[in-house]
Amino acid sequence: MPGGQPALHQGPHHRAARPGRGPPAQAHAGPRTPRTARPKRTAHDDTRTHRARRHEKDETLAVQDSLKTRRTLTVDGQEYDYFSIPEAEANGLGDVSRLPFSLKVLLENLLRYEDGGTVVADDAKAMSQWVTDRKSDREIAYRPARVLMQDFTGVPAVVDLAAMRDAVAGLGGNPDQINPLSPVDLVIDHSVMVDSYGNPTSFKRNVEREFERNRERYEFLRWGQQAFDNFRVVPPGTGICHQVNLEYLGQSVWVKDDGAGRNVAMPDTLVGTDSHTTMINGLGVLGWGVGGIEAEAAMLGQPVSMVIPQVVGFKLTGELNEGATATDLVLTVTQMLRQHGVVGKFVEFYGPGLSALTLADRATIGNMAPEYGATCGFFPVDAETVRYLEFTGRDPHRIKLVEEYCKAQGLWREDDTPDPVFSEVLELDLSEVEPSIAGPKRPQDRVAVKAAAGEFRSHLQRELGLDPDGPAADMAEEGPAAIGDSAKQAFDDSGIQVEGENYRLNHGDVVIAAITSCTNTSNPSVMLGAGMLARNALERGLEVKPWVKTSLAPGSQVVTDYLEAAGLQDDLDALGFNLVGYGCTTCIGNSGPLADNIAGAVEKGDLMVCSVLSGNRNFEGRINPHCKANYLASPPLVVAYALAGNMRVDLLNDPLGEDRKGQPVYMKDIWPSAGDIQSMLQASLTSDMFKDRYANVFQGPPEWQGIQVGEGQTYQWQDDSTYVRRPPFFEDMGGEPAGLEDVHGAHTLAILGDSVTTDHISPAGAIKKDSPAGRYLMDRGVEPRDFNSYGSRRGNHEVMMRGTFANIRIRNEMVPGVEGGVTKHVPSGQQMAIYDAAMQYQEEGTPLVVVAGKEYGTGSSRDWAAKGTRLLGVKAVIAESYERIHRSNLVGMGVLPLQFPDGTSRKTLGLTGAERWDLTGVKDGVTPRMTVQATLHRPDGSQEAVNLLCRIDTADEVEYYRHGGILHYVLRQIAGRASA
Ligand code: SF4
Repeated sequence: MPGGQPALHQGPHHRAARPGRGPPAQAHAGPRTPRTARPKRTAHDDTRTHRARRHEKDETLAVQDSLKTRRTLTVDGQEYDYFSIPEAEANGLGDVSRLPFSLKVLLENLLRYEDGGTVVADDAKAMSQWVTDRKSDREIAYRPARVLMQDFTGVPAVVDLAAMRDAVAGLGGNPDQINPLSPVDLVIDHSVMVDSYGNPTSFKRNVEREFERNRERYEFLRWGQQAFDNFRVVPPGTGICHQVNLEYLGQSVWVKDDGAGRNVAMPDTLVGTDSHTTMINGLGVLGWGVGGIEAEAAMLGQPVSMVIPQVVGFKLTGELNEGATATDLVLTVTQMLRQHGVVGKFVEFYGPGLSALTLADRATIGNMAPEYGATCGFFPVDAETVRYLEFTGRDPHRIKLVEEYCKAQGLWREDDTPDPVFSEVLELDLSEVEPSIAGPKRPQDRVAVKAAAGEFRSHLQRELGLDPDGPAADMAEEGPAAIGDSAKQAFDDSGIQVEGENYRLNHGDVVIAAITSCTNTSNPSVMLGAGMLARNALERGLEVKPWVKTSLAPGSQVVTDYLEAAGLQDDLDALGFNLVGYGCTTCIGNSGPLADNIAGAVEKGDLMVCSVLSGNRNFEGRINPHCKANYLASPPLVVAYALAGNMRVDLLNDPLGEDRKGQPVYMKDIWPSAGDIQSMLQASLTSDMFKDRYANVFQGPPEWQGIQVGEGQTYQWQDDSTYVRRPPFFEDMGGEPAGLEDVHGAHTLAILGDSVTTDHISPAGAIKKDSPAGRYLMDRGVEPRDFNSYGSRRGNHEVMMRGTFANIRIRNEMVPGVEGGVTKHVPSGQQMAIYDAAMQYQEEGTPLVVVAGKEYGTGSSRDWAAKGTRLLGVKAVIAESYERIHRSNLVGMGVLPLQFPDGTSRKTLGLTGAERWDLTGVKDGVTPRMTVQATLHRPDGSQEAVNLLCRIDTADEVEYYRHGGILHYVLRQIAGRASA
């Protein structure tokens, strides 16, 4: 069908799966009881709540087409124009047949948008040169077909759009000019918390609390639905953005109207405001995460500026062994690629092993691209892609177009397709993958399950200086100063008695076991594996340890359907893995509080207790404030660790518990075989489940439907709102940018170490009562129980400024031995919250810098990490290296990212924070990667010059910086066009 919207309910199109390759389209066995409180719906109607269905027009398609590539493809009598890669080759481009598939997608984009301005013929030529050089330093303008957002990043993006409407009116334009030009889907998935768990009403109670906490935000989004074109909202309680994208939104081939009535077919591509947007690469859809500000620019018609990347080929051979899961595989891939180094590069998977991976397995691997550091992990379209599109109920005509278009374009993979050429290659024999977990602090730190207990013991020794095998041991050399006597005492005393219970809690006990995250809940094999392990455990009489907070939060309602059809939800319920919500929950840190008596014991003994989750991130402070060690694991292993109750157990050799006869039960006794999982999958998962659930995807629960919808082109900001406020970014903005300025006499706001994450800079989780943000909220009558999270308050800059650098685990080297967002206000010598110091410096008229180590801004794309930095008055960040998205977000917010030269760092310079900085050379004009001269003024009166690399990397970024940020640039363009 024309347009990008998939058609559902076009009748069954069942097709038998290849043996051992995933779900066939059989009628499901067993009863199917809807578990949600939501009534079953049958009609798909998103027009009642959305201002307009996407018009899917693109009038900016190639006006030059110098290689004469426009051709027509006819599918079932319907014509589609397309910009042909083989024709480009035949007409003089050169041999591009062995370009990596992912770069062919970029090449097609350049052919389609060749306008002689933003895209020129030489851009495509650079692609053919890439085949020879296997790298390129050419900067290109890339236009993805669509944008995906989640609510943590989506609310501030819509807040910015609403503020831009006000600003454009202020500049004399029409507010209606601010509208997404590309289709935007926003999925509300990040806000549900695990307040209630382990009982049949948990889902209902968590949804109720979610709506109580988030009503203001949801009202705002309902206003956005009616105010903006091309903007759709998937309501809360429906699913997780990447799983919804995989199961419904993604099409592999997209279609737009060229404005002259012709349908144009193109690869489905997107950018998303969530770093795990990369999951959709499993479906042959090129996509990655960008900051909210870049996404806003993309949806307003700005191309994404990028250098043609290197592509690392990852060859897969063989098949996974019995007992190894897709999660084990992705943790292995992550470790290998991290060790290799793929930051800023594409990874593309190839080789005969691809045919041994289901699409769900591929999506799991695509999901964790941010963890292995790549821009994306791409899988080309092949027969498995088509099988998945069919099984998940996509429009049969579109599926036919996918196959024919990809074959016509050289974008189709077969087992005997010649290998593309790559910049570098790695290889993995799938049969070498062993059961694994990753942690305790980083996703790339894979540990074989067989070694996990020993590794945890070592970690405990390193971190706490305790020997878990005997009396207190010597402190390890690098043991942090934070170790308390209570931690040591707790170990000596064999733990801490939990108030009101008959057990003690000790280091290594698992207090959270969460089946969570689109990474794994999109994969039926591991979800059914978890359910079958639960069933087998129950049959042997095992129980989850009473101190474990258990939860199950799938990324789509289809998961509930097949778990119920298999009868496995009852088994999971019986172990406490009741449904808690359809959303990110523990994966984004919404694990909810621990029981008071458990939390009390953890605090009393300063215990290093653990979480085990089927997520993709485990940075300090992310999962739960009480969990200092966090392990990523497959859903079945999450259940196994919940049964064992601690990380000290060797899952392969120690019993998980005892059966009713007092006999030990080992994990191998209850682990389901791959064959049994496959049989269960074939019996329980059906194509109709996808069709039924996604027929109602925009409708939402009654709580959503009952929200009052505000009207009007511009938003009526509420003065008393603590969730949604007009941000100050565009206040007093003139029609022309002010000139660039050097920085003189800057103080240091913080000195941070290596691998500081965006979560350290702008936490998403809990707001502490005694923090600046907590005080702000309480001053406005918000009780701590209603604080919600920082992530949910990103529509209020007042909260977010106060939350910047406020992660409870951040360590500022200016205040040694202190954890949390604290610094020294140098002129007064006083120690205070970073926000308070920044405000004091602002009053004093003093500019600020932040100094950091390697990989600054690693982790999730989080534009508030850059926005907050700007609002605190930080003019420049000076780091040893940067994570890709955060660096560009800093530029996008008008903050200068500077880089120490090789061999120079805060340590070699002996920085204490007492120095003052001059940064010169900026006011004379910025060029990409120029040198900025820094002069350090030390307290003893001495000076030192350092040449810093300006990490404004492209000409477009120079323009953004010159305008004070990307949104200012876009706004002036729009206002300029209006007045022209
Ligand atoms: S489940 Fe985790 S990875 Fe998936 S969107 Fe939510 S936070 Fe991101």
